[in-house]
Amino acid sequence: MSQDISRRRLLGTTLAAAGAAVGASALGGIGRARALPGDTVDAIVVGGGLSGLAAAKSLVAAGASVVVLEARERAGGRVHNISSPKLGATLDAGAEFIGPTQNHIAALAREYDVRTIPTYNQGDSIFWNSGQSSRMPAALPLPLQAETLQAGAGLARAQADALAGFPVGEPWKHPNARYLDSLTWEQYSHQIATTSTARALMQVAMSAPLSVRPDEVSALYFLNYIAASGDENNPGTLIRLLSTDDGAQESLFEGGAALIPLRMARALGDRMVYNAPVRSIDFTSEIATVTSTAGTFRARKVIVAMSPAISDQIRYSPGLPAARIGITRGYHMGAVSKFAALYRRPFWRDKGLSGQVYGNGRPIDVTFESYAEDRHILMGFISADAMRRLDRAPESQIVRECIGNFVDYFGPEARDFIDHGIYKWDLDPWAQGGPVAVSSPGTLTTYGPALRAPVGPVHWAGTETADYWTGYMDGAVRSGKRAAQEVLGSLN
Ligand SMILES: Cc1cc2nc3c(=O)[nH]c(=O)nc-3n(C[C@H](O)[C@H](O)[C@H](O)COP(=O)(O)OP(=O)(O)OC[C@H]3O[C@@H](n4cnc5c(N)ncnc54)[C@H](O)[C@@H]3O)c2cc1C
Repeated sequence: MSQDISRRRLLGTTLAAAGAAVGASALGGIGRARALPGDTVDAIVVGGGLSGLAAAKSLVAAGASVVVLEARERAGGRVHNISSPKLGATLDAGAEFIGPTQNHIAALAREYDVRTIPTYNQGDSIFWNSGQSSRMPAALPLPLQAETLQAGAGLARAQADALAGFPVGEPWKHPNARYLDSLTWEQYSHQIATTSTARALMQVAMSAPLSVRPDEVSALYFLNYIAASGDENNPGTLIRLLSTDDGAQESLFEGGAALIPLRMARALGDRMVYNAPVRSIDFTSEIATVTSTAGTFRARKVIVAMSPAISDQIRYSPGLPAARIGITRGYHMGAVSKFAALYRRPFWRDKGLSGQVYGNGRPIDVTFESYAEDRHILMGFISADAMRRLDRAPESQIVRECIGNFVDYFGPEARDFIDHGIYKWDLDPWAQGGPVAVSSPGTLTTYGPALRAPVGPVHWAGTETADYWTGYMDGAVRSGKRAAQEVLGSLN
C-alpha cells in the first residue's frame, strides 16, 4: 500500500520535474527523468524547511528531478504562522525578522511578493537586570552606559576575537580555535568581564539570539555566530546581530514570514510529499533508498536538510563516519517559545517605550513589538531553562507568568490583553527546540569539518551548516543552495 502511494507520488513528481526540465540539456540526463513507476530521481531532499526548499528550487532550476519528503503536513519548518485562538490573528510562531546583508532571504521575499515592514524602534528600550529596570535609547543594541562600559569592552573584545581573520563557517580553522572551543561562553565572559552587570550583559548578548544559557555553548561557536552576521562584502558584527535598526531585527514580514516557504512549496507542486517522516536512508555510492512513512523512494543523491541535532532520528545504512556522529551528538537545540499578547492599542508607546526588553527576567527575557492585521502585539521569548520548566505547564500558568513579566516591564495596562498565542518548539518532534542548534565545547574543533562533508550520496543542508547568517532564515537558504550545487556538481 505505502509502496503504491510512493510510486504514485513519484510519478506526479517526475512528470512535474520533466515539465520543468526544459533547457536542461547541458546536464545530460538530469531532468529528463520520465514518469515511470520505480524511476530513480536525481535527488531527494529530506525536509521542507527553507533550506530544503531552497535546495529543491535550485535543483529544479538546473533541470534535476526532485522529491521533497517533509515530515509535517506543511512546509516551512521553523518558519510557521499560527492563529491566535480568539481573533484568528496571524502570528509568527518561529522566524520573524530580517535585516541587512540577509540578501538570500530578501531575494526570495521579493520573488514571492512578501513585503516587509519596519520593526517599531522608537523611544527607549529596557535593560532588565535581576529586577532592576533601566531605560536606554532604542537606537542602541545594548545599554552601553557608564555602568555597563566594562561589558562594552568585553563585547568589543569578543567582537575583535570574532573579526580577527575569523574563518566564517569554518571556526575550527581559527588560530586560537582549540582554546576558544575549550571554553563555554560563560567561562569566556568571566575572563573578560568582572562585574555582575557586565557579565549579565555579555550573557544576554548571547542568550538573546540563541535561547541557551551561557554554560551550554562553546565560546568558539558564538564567536563564529558573530562573525557570521554579515556577508561576503560586510564582515559580521555583534552590533548587526543584536540591533533592530540596521540589524537582524530591522523588519518583519507582512502576513508572516511563513508566506515565503509556503509559496516556495506551492511552486514546487507535486514534488512536495507531506506527512512523510523519513525513517531510514540506505545507500551505496551510486544510489540511495529513502524510506518514509509515505513510502520508499530512490535517488542518486540525497540532501538531508535539517538541524544536525535531529538528523540522527534517521537511520543510515551503512552507518555514518564517527565524525558525523560526533557532530550530531555535540549539537543540541535551544529551548524556546514565543509568547504573543495582542492589545487594542500600543500603550507602551505612550510611555516612550519601544516594546523591547533585554535582560535576565523570567520566564520572558527578550521582547519586541509586533503586529498582526493592525493589532499591536507584545512578543516575548521564553528561553532555555525557563522554557523547559514550562514545557509541560498548563497554558493558563504560562499566560499568567508571561503577562506578569509584561506588567513588570511595561506597566499594569499589560493585563488588558485581548488575545494571545504561544507555540512550544521544544515539544514539536520535527524541531525539538529552536531557534538553532548550538555546539558544546570541543565539538567544532574535534568534528567540525563533518558538519557539511557529504557521506557517499548523502549531503547536508540546514541553517546550522551555513557560513553567513547561520541560525537564520538567510543561512538556511544559503545552505540549501550550497548543498544543491554540491549535488549538481557530483551528478554526471
Ligand atoms: C522561535 C524562533 C524564532 C526565530 N526567529 C528568527 C528570526 O527572527 N529571523 C530568522 O532569520 N530566523 C529566525 N529563526 C530561525 C529560523 O527559523 C531557522 O534558521 C530556519 O527556519 C531553519 O531552516 P532549516 O530549513 O535549516 O530547518 P527547519 O526549518 O527546521 O527545516 C527542517 C525540516 O525538516 C523536517 N524534518 C525533520 N525531520 C524530518 C524527517 N525525519 N523526515 C522528513 N522531514 C523531516 C521538519 O519538519 C522541517 O520542515 C527562529 C526560529 C525559532 C524557532
